[in-house]
Amino acid sequence: MSKVRVRFAPSPTGGLHLGGVRTVLYNYLFAKQHKGEFILRIEDTDQNRYVPGAEQYIIDCLEWCGLIPDEAPHLGGPYDPYRQSERKGLYKQYAEKLVAAGYAYYAFDTPEEIEAMRVRLKSEGKSNLQYDHHVRMQMRNSLTLEEDETKALIESGTPYVIRIKVLQDQVVSFTDMIRGEMHFDTNNVDDKVLLKADGMPTYHLAVVVDDYLMKITHAFRGEEWLPSAAVHILLWNYLGWINEMPQWAHLPLILKPDGNGKLSKRDGDRLGFPVFAMNWEDPNTHELIHGFRELGFLPEAFINLLAMLGWTDGTEQEIFTLDELIEKFSIDRVHKGGAKFNYEKAKWFNHEWIKKMSIDRLKPDIKGIFENAGIEITDQLQFEKIISLVKDRCTLLTDFIEQAGFFYKPPSSYDIAALKGKWDDTKASFFNSFLVDINKTTWESVAIEEAFRNRAAEMNIKPGELQLPFRIMLVGGKFGPPVFEIASVLGREETISRIGKAIISFTL
Ligand code: GLU
Repeated sequence: MSKVRVRFAPSPTGGLHLGGVRTVLYNYLFAKQHKGEFILRIEDTDQNRYVPGAEQYIIDCLEWCGLIPDEAPHLGGPYDPYRQSERKGLYKQYAEKLVAAGYAYYAFDTPEEIEAMRVRLKSEGKSNLQYDHHVRMQMRNSLTLEEDETKALIESGTPYVIRIKVLQDQVVSFTDMIRGEMHFDTNNVDDKVLLKADGMPTYHLAVVVDDYLMKITHAFRGEEWLPSAAVHILLWNYLGWINEMPQWAHLPLILKPDGNGKLSKRDGDRLGFPVFAMNWEDPNTHELIHGFRELGFLPEAFINLLAMLGWTDGTEQEIFTLDELIEKFSIDRVHKGGAKFNYEKAKWFNHEWIKKMSIDRLKPDIKGIFENAGIEITDQLQFEKIISLVKDRCTLLTDFIEQAGFFYKPPSSYDIAALKGKWDDTKASFFNSFLVDINKTTWESVAIEEAFRNRAAEMNIKPGELQLPFRIMLVGGKFGPPVFEIASVLGREETISRIGKAIISFTL
């Protein structure tokens, strides 16, 4: 088998939906497993849909996810350029080759003429309003015009497109790596435009020419592209390249949580979860669509949860590293049916990953989140202790603010309601004595706890009744890791100061 070469070929029309990232991931896993190459190709031939910033966003997403291409517009490679708009001059010759071979034709119909054709078909009660074998001989194209007329029109600069001439009464077949045998009746396939009036190829021509020229061996793409496969196979055939056609796999859709239809970018903000990999701000409308990254997901968890949206390794295992995925991924285990997206499950993956992550790996991300919240980290050792104390309690990275922000900022208020019935003068006097005791203890959790218990025993109070007030003194509420651990990380001075302040506030 020739060297595996796969491609992710997005159109830069906006942010990257999680379905798009999953397509990247499956491409990447397959390439790496076969020691092959993963290519990023930007399909920007539709200038009307081009959105500035979208290409860079895609590149940044791939980087965040750690799915780095081997060849790409920003990296270059042996098949440069990797941006279709920069390959514009390349496609026309193939369209013309098809015309010369009788598989395509020049069409001069104006938009008004095409509209008139549709109106006519509608008035005749037809539901199929396509430009296809039914109507092509009634239109203004090189099949209906004399050869010299066609030539004259082209030479006079009349705008034209090149359309594929789909042969009738044929069945186009291919074996999809996920879906098996697929068949299409050519009578249902329209004469798609291959080359537009501005000289740009359409997606259909460009994708076939580039997959051929870039020696792509396997093409994984979303299920929504399945209907286009018929035209693509015809083109591979008509261009004489059918033996080099990549093997295709059309990936199942990612569905809304209730299973009703494809998860769209609108669903996210509507249903309260992210759909894009990273925040995306539309440059025209300035609408912000939230991303998994900014909401506190780890890329390792994001990749893991995407891998499992449509695939399993056949065991109960759900947590996989990228290396394990590379080793275990197999296209035969990709489901045919759509995968329902479940945000609670997505958060579960992130929680598992936070628990599993090393402190060193978590440090930079959490530092960034703290800095955004105005918290500056000065003591590295203390920061590491804090992370290890609270990480198991955090589902999202952003939870670290709530779970550990109190280490950096004393409570601005106390959960007084929680103290109801648990605070009185005896307890206040316990803490006044304890303040003196802890001036002398070694500053570590076991010693602090011992001092706490000794003083409680001496005053005949159950230590259990004192722990909640102590916690509220240090963090403000009923949450956080073990209270003596908190005190030990806060340090003697800060603990004393918080107890002192709280005694006054509680009594007021
Ligand atoms: N440019 C297409 C897209 O935007 C690529 C489809 C394909 O992979 O063939 O998704």
